[in-house]
Amino acid sequence: ATSPKAAKESKENLRSPICCIMGHVDTGKTKLLDCIRGTNVQEGEAGGITQQIGATYFPAENIRERTKELRPDAKLKVPGLLVIDTPGHESFSNLRSRGSNLCDIAILVVDIMHGLEPQTIESLNLLRKRNTEFIVALNKVDRLYGWKTCKNAPIEKALALQSKDVVIEFNMRLTQVITQFKEQGLNTEIYYKNKEMGDTYSIVPTSAISGEGIPDLLLFLVMWSQKTMVEKLTFVDKVQCTVLEVKVIPGHGTTIDVVLVNGVLHEGDQIVACGSQGPIITTVRSLLTPHPMKELRVKGTYLHHREVKAAQCIKITAQGLEHAVAGTSLHVIGPDVDVEEAKKTAMEDMKSIMSWVDKSGEGVYVQASTLGSLEALLEFLKSPDVKIPVSGIGLGPVHKKDIMKAGVMLEKKKEYATILAFDVKITTEARELADSMGVKIFCADIIYHLFDQFKGYVKDVRDEERKETASEVVFPCVLKILPNHVFKRGNPIILGVEVIDGILKVGTPMCILKESEKSRVFVDLGCVASIHKDKKPLDDAKKGQQVAIKIIASNSGEEKTFGEDFGIEDELISHISRRSIDILKTLYRNELKDEFKLVKKLKTLFKIQ
Ligand code: GDP
Repeated sequence: ATSPKAAKESKENLRSPICCIMGHVDTGKTKLLDCIRGTNVQEGEAGGITQQIGATYFPAENIRERTKELRPDAKLKVPGLLVIDTPGHESFSNLRSRGSNLCDIAILVVDIMHGLEPQTIESLNLLRKRNTEFIVALNKVDRLYGWKTCKNAPIEKALALQSKDVVIEFNMRLTQVITQFKEQGLNTEIYYKNKEMGDTYSIVPTSAISGEGIPDLLLFLVMWSQKTMVEKLTFVDKVQCTVLEVKVIPGHGTTIDVVLVNGVLHEGDQIVACGSQGPIITTVRSLLTPHPMKELRVKGTYLHHREVKAAQCIKITAQGLEHAVAGTSLHVIGPDVDVEEAKKTAMEDMKSIMSWVDKSGEGVYVQASTLGSLEALLEFLKSPDVKIPVSGIGLGPVHKKDIMKAGVMLEKKKEYATILAFDVKITTEARELADSMGVKIFCADIIYHLFDQFKGYVKDVRDEERKETASEVVFPCVLKILPNHVFKRGNPIILGVEVIDGILKVGTPMCILKESEKSRVFVDLGCVASIHKDKKPLDDAKKGQQVAIKIIASNSGEEKTFGEDFGIEDELISHISRRSIDILKTLYRNELKDEFKLVKKLKTLFKIQ
């Protein structure tokens, strides 16, 4: 709720809302950004402008100009709109500033031809978790069969010009998408019919190629945020600023691109940033922004500013920024700020992330580009159906020291001597060292890909280790000899048995227990050479199954005979050992569940410590 005071203050003093774009790959996030930036028209002339700092600022005049056909009388109360440029990327969508979202509002892009896709749902869940407002851009309307292009037209106007068939297809696809959202527990409606804003999310149909619906998208973003987020968007003097990226720029050294969420930054301000090696105290040398939107920009040139007011995206040049951590907050040391306090505050972001590291000291090493992406990755690794422990974390490119740290695991658990590198570069020396030490590095910029690679690797390592220990592993089982099913009494012994507990596997050494008041002896019979059921060979038999087995005496052991050394009353037990238990525990833990209870029982029976 908005307090009356805040509402009053905000009359002329709102900052620009900050917006990010999310959605499944190929839904048109990049194209949509290009389209609202207007860079697609300039591509040729400007030599493919690449955005130089992580966000684009749209001044209110620009928005007014582009939306005047839709609503000439629209009252824009915010100075503009700041759109974060790197779409869809976890590093950016997870950005936070002092514990709350950096983005005030998000655009969730859905391809009208495909409907909701896996990453749409992921984005949706992230948005809900972070409590971020969003609108849906139902993109690629121009792909509807027979669509008549109405360049940059408001969507209702464009739809009015379409044939009946196109409108029918449009409505059908729109309804499908609304149903799919409903299945995710979300009410949605096309924005101009949405009367329950807040409870029902709005859909704006767009084309990033021909621009239909883009005026609607821009205007809706601005109008909705200035109407519902007055308190949040009220400008305050206290600087709130988040580092987006740390980049080396020729002629400027290491610079940081920041989003200034609130307050004013000046040239010469003393700042403290969170660094991977400790707090960084420095002085702002220059505040740079790219040249304004309409001008042709030459890559690498910037406008200098004495001061910049929020919300804006700025490149800061200063000394000593090499180890600055993307995703953390930047603080200004004002006249009455205690420097030591400021240093502490600056490092808080790092401290909180260290709590993710596994206390046992065993686990993989995780490296990511920003604090936000590191957090997203750690959160994922911790989730119940993933559960990969983490022993160490790092930010920025992977260096030799990171390999050394990950290498510690080689002694403990080979598969954990691994670096999961998320959206970061790996130095050549680091790569060479990793190869020579046997540390694995997996790189990806999608969390799931890292997970899949690692999972595959763990399986390979496991398979390899299982192969190496195949002759030593013993699965626990207890068998009962079936009466009238002794087919051969002497070596090899052939018997019909029922598995009364555990799991019977080919290769298992079997014994019987001879117990008298004075002694307790295990008589080894030999190893299970084959298991048959209805004349068909099996690899194993489970509890309750009745099968025929062949037991061959071991080369060193004495041959035993049914009726002499053992009888129908004797249970056959797999002969386990300390070593075989250890192998089961490390290599078969996940697929043996109840069987471990039997291992415990047998352990007592065999008096294994
Ligand atoms: P991203 O992965 O979400 O960033 O998707 P892109 O912006 O790279 O777009 C993926 C593909 O879809 C590209 O070939 C685009 O040209 C195309 N595309 C994006 N938006 C539209 C649209 O509105 N209409 C049509 N026809 N194609 C589009």
